[in-house]
Amino acid sequence: MDINSKQNFFVGLDRELERLKTAGLYKNERVLASRQGAEVVCDDGRTLINLCANNYLGLSGEESMVRAAIDATERYGYGLSSVRFICGTQTVHKQLEKALSDFLGMDDTILYAAAFDANGGLFEPLFDENDAIISDALNHASIIDGIRLCKAARLRYQHNDMADLEAQLQAAAGKRHVIIATDGVFSMDGTIARLDKICDLADKYGALVMIDECHASGFMGATGRGTHEHHHVMGRVDIITGTLGKALGGAMGGFTAARKEVIDTLRQKSRPYLFSNSLAPAIAGASLAVLEQLASSTALRDRLHANTAYFRSAIAALGFTIKPGTHPVVPVMLFDAPVAQRFAARLYELGVLVTGFFYPVVPMGQARVRVQLSAAHTTAQLDQALAAFAQAGRELGLLDTTGVA
Ligand SMILES: *Cc1c(COP(=O)(O)O)cnc(C)c1O
Repeated sequence: MDINSKQNFFVGLDRELERLKTAGLYKNERVLASRQGAEVVCDDGRTLINLCANNYLGLSGEESMVRAAIDATERYGYGLSSVRFICGTQTVHKQLEKALSDFLGMDDTILYAAAFDANGGLFEPLFDENDAIISDALNHASIIDGIRLCKAARLRYQHNDMADLEAQLQAAAGKRHVIIATDGVFSMDGTIARLDKICDLADKYGALVMIDECHASGFMGATGRGTHEHHHVMGRVDIITGTLGKALGGAMGGFTAARKEVIDTLRQKSRPYLFSNSLAPAIAGASLAVLEQLASSTALRDRLHANTAYFRSAIAALGFTIKPGTHPVVPVMLFDAPVAQRFAARLYELGVLVTGFFYPVVPMGQARVRVQLSAAHTTAQLDQALAAFAQAGRELGLLDTTGVA
């Protein structure tokens, strides 16, 4: 450190930001002037069909959610000004934890301010240097960070590769406890973890299984309980983390669900729980209303999957390359980063909001726009979006039209 050290610090940040801009990696935030929904209004006054929210069940901007949040606020107030264990637990928090446990088929549930906190506070209280965590190579940043905070040995298996997972289980044979950690659904590709196989391998080696259900809770599986329902392994997954900020209402908040002794331990020792404020009552009450709605009807989940099937087959018929699958995340592959950026910009002009993803968010040469369907989209909106994709694709020379009459 010298007398210029502080000045150099800020100069260094400026240089790095310039480097990001030059490399095309600088992220600008889109500013909305409306509620979240199938259509949104941007701050420039344009109305756009929104194909890039995690608003899978279409609840984020719904009047019913606003009412439920207001009702809970009127009853329980604006906030707690406390962590849970001092004076920050209300009946609504206990009701929501019970409802989440029932919905997910688990013993007990603990709430966090975010799923990032749920994952960040999960591993360190439960595992130490005697143990091992085996993690899918494409796991979410919050799982990676949570594992980093824990002293357990870290092993990685190739994405969704069961032979490699088994090799890692064998490599961890000398450890006391071993846990396999994976996203239930991987958000960049819409890939579903091979959870039936993972549970079989876990049983074979005596390992635990943890899944992060942020892109699954509320709509995967016949009644929307998640990837464990989708793969018929309810009761065989040991720990489930998830968010209230995507399908289950869209505000914010996270949770971990597991056996009672795991949740009790987290309540005693998990740092983001012990040292961070209670979930706002508005969110707890509205999330509870969502779970009641999902328990009484699969209509939203069914509508989402119908929209997904419709969009997937129509976009492929137009000649676009998509990653195959059944999830409402539909990667429309453009491969080249500048093309993905131009394509997303043209769609914006044509009234469709999507984001281009390119390296380092996805592998080099795998640039894409990621479409996310919602139960809130009408068929007319999807048709309008598809027409815009077709126009932008033709203009940019992305569609092979030679066979078209
Ligand atoms: C979105 C997401 C998170 C973070 O959820 P928050 O509640 O917004 O913190 C964690 N894991 C995965 C897989 C996600 O997609």
